[in-house]
Amino acid sequence: MKKHLLLWLLCLLPFALSAQVVDTVAQEADSEQTQPYRYVNASALTLRALPSASALALAKIDGASRVTVLTDRPDGWTKVQINEHLGYVKSEYLVEQQQDVTAESVDWSLVEAAGGADYTNVSAVEVRAALPQASAARPAVRRAAPRASAGPKVYICNNGRTEVYHSSESCSAMNRCTYATKVASTSEARGLGLRECMKCY
Ligand SMILES: [Zn+2]
Repeated sequence: MKKHLLLWLLCLLPFALSAQVVDTVAQEADSEQTQPYRYVNASALTLRALPSASALALAKIDGASRVTVLTDRPDGWTKVQINEHLGYVKSEYLVEQQQDVTAESVDWSLVEAAGGADYTNVSAVEVRAALPQASAARPAVRRAAPRASAGPKVYICNNGRTEVYHSSESCSAMNRCTYATKVASTSEARGLGLRECMKCY
């Protein structure tokens, strides 16, 4: 009787072993996806509870803040996360690079003090029950003019906040630029709202 039991156990052993092997092989493949970031190209952007302009406003996101993109939706809204806040913002006010932020009244000194590209700042929205949202001002965004490539080349310090363009990269004002130089045509530069540098023009 004892012998039978032993034999039986020996028969089961291979199954037990193979099950263990399968277990160790089946480790979760750690899909560590890199989170795509976008930057707020507006003086402030409203984070909403739902993808709708009439949805509850959850917070205001400062211009040039970095948000994590969770879902890029086809309806013009992007689901984002910033700090512990989750919600929806209008996709048109997001840009991929912080230096592409052209919105006025962005406090770049704050952004730089906070480490530049890592800058994230949200503030609470005052809730006004039952009042039409007259205060939900639309973000002020200076839209880039359509591309025109005519005219001589000009040089722009790509720090995202310059107001001038230069005729030469060796302009003394341009030498102070610690960012990449952007080359554009005069009309493109003017389309971005830039004016001639007083030193080199
Ligand atoms: Zn210049």
